[in-house]
Amino acid sequence: MDARTEQIAANLAAVRERIATACRNAGREPESVTLVAVTKTYPAEDVARLAELGVRDVGENRDQEAAPKAAAVPGVRWHFVGQLQRNKARSVAGYADVVHSVDSLRLVEALSDAAARAERDTPLGALVQVSLDDDEHRGGALTGQVEKVAEAITASPHLRLLGVMAVAPLDWTPDEAFGRLAAMSARIRQRFSGAHGEPDWISAGMSDDLESAILHGSTHVRVGSALLGKRTPLG
Ligand SMILES: *Cc1c(COP(=O)(O)O)cnc(C)c1O
Repeated sequence: MDARTEQIAANLAAVRERIATACRNAGREPESVTLVAVTKTYPAEDVARLAELGVRDVGENRDQEAAPKAAAVPGVRWHFVGQLQRNKARSVAGYADVVHSVDSLRLVEALSDAAARAERDTPLGALVQVSLDDDEHRGGALTGQVEKVAEAITASPHLRLLGVMAVAPLDWTPDEAFGRLAAMSARIRQRFSGAHGEPDWISAGMSDDLESAILHGSTHVRVGSALLGKRTPLG
């Protein structure tokens, strides 16, 4: 193992331990939480190191960066977690398994068309990103639009509604944010469970707040800096 791999292995062990402890405190099984390693700003070599260490799920937030990494590191599931321009839908549908940041009807339409043309074996997974504080600029559907976006996803044969995602607003406590998201998730599950399954994913929790997210039912934590190190401000 090179020095970088050893460092990532130690970070990974610490993150897995945090997840296990949070699950214990929440009375949940550790297997009920999937670690999505967010590798933005770090090179494809680090993604390969994570894969070698057993990480199966990798997240990126910009298509320009994600597309070449996905081509360089096969054998992991790619999660797109950032704000997505409609003109990038084509590219993203070519490599991503799941898009966590679906926040408008127009983006649903673009992703549905893109997934159809990509001739995928399986539908493209989609989570509705929720703007918990109804801030229109930071990404996420306004809370009043979430069910409409979810409904549009279920109407597409090329997409599969998996659940909801959010980033805790800066000026909220994580408990407040993730508690609201859990309530939103319950509504979405109740309304949209059916023949194609239950949209029971809750994508919530990052390096600094994963414990609170797990306490409130997160099924997918998106962790970057705790695994790979602090990013430079540009990232
Ligand atoms: C960067 C990013 C993360 C990871 O954040 P860390 O604080 O580095 O763990 C999670 N989710 C999204 C949407 C991100 O852009």
